[in-house]
Amino acid sequence: MNIILLGPPGAGKGTQAQRLVERHGMRQLSTGDMLRAAVKAGTPTGLEAKAVMERGELVSDAIVSALIGDELDAMGADTGAIFDGYPRTEAQARSLDEILAARGRKLDHVIELGVDEDALVERITGRYTCATCGKGYHDTFEQPKVPGTCDKCGGTEFKRRPDDNAETVRTRMAEYRAKTAPILPFYEAQGIVSKVDGMAEMDAVTDALESILAN
Ligand code: ADP
Ligand code: ADP
Ligand code: ZN
Repeated sequence: MNIILLGPPGAGKGTQAQRLVERHGMRQLSTGDMLRAAVKAGTPTGLEAKAVMERGELVSDAIVSALIGDELDAMGADTGAIFDGYPRTEAQARSLDEILAARGRKLDHVIELGVDEDALVERITGRYTCATCGKGYHDTFEQPKVPGTCDKCGGTEFKRRPDDNAETVRTRMAEYRAKTAPILPFYEAQGIVSKVDGMAEMDAVTDALESILAN
């Protein structure tokens, strides 16, 4: 099974991808996570991407498509893939079709998480993750059960992203509207798009995703 989670920054793609990974042993392929790892490691890709990401603009199609191809090659052929934050442009969507076909894979579902833009700034500015295992949290909407301790791994260090500020979010939303939302018709033409209400409670969103995957 190969699925794309599509939605603006803060829609809940990463949150839901982590849940599907735990339930189904699928693999989350987040180009944002891959790029942040490259920035941290100081690779040539990271050096090129850092300033672009801090501005909230899109990194080049060639860079992200190469990251995705490498990651798929490192996975078992039978492991399902959840694409989170990729593709983000029509050129990336076309590349993904080729990348998958070359590996004997095909897309099963493109799931759009619909959200009100007004809610996104609050979601993004309250977002943080466990520095040890990467589990996502939110200041208001998903706090650790024991304050200061990660539910999943017991870690006590947390981190916030430099681009998760109100100003950069506006640019990221504009990028989504201008470049990413227009790829939906490309997938609608293939008859594989489902829409889920991303404003619902996290568990209800997960239930909606599960029922799509079961079909
Ligand atoms: P994305 O990967 O689409 O950018 P995230 O999954 O990181 O979004 O979610 C952004 C923030 O909003 C996180 O802090 C997360 O805990 C929170 N969040 C995710 N889904 C919901 C939801 N359905 N209701 C309320 N908050 C949510
Ligand atoms: P979110 O889901 O919260 O918008 P991501 O972690 O997916 O954030 O992406 C963070 C940043 O990394 C983006 O604003 C962009 O600069 C870069 N990026 C991630 N994925 C892509 C992609 N597929 N194409 C171009 N740039 C990307
Ligand atoms: Zn943790």
